[in-house]
Amino acid sequence: MQTKKPMEFFRNLPPKQCPDCGHHIDEQAESYVVKCTECSSKQ
Ligand SMILES: [Zn+2]
Repeated sequence: MQTKKPMEFFRNLPPKQCPDCGHHIDEQAESYVVKCTECSSKQ
């Protein structure tokens, strides 16, 4: 398996992931958000 090229890597940064449920967090969400909207609203 071929590793991704550096440029490709930066273009495909791994999305944030909610530590509670593992759902991907919308990158358009504010940067300080660490949990998905669902888990955030549960607190
Ligand atoms: Zn979550």
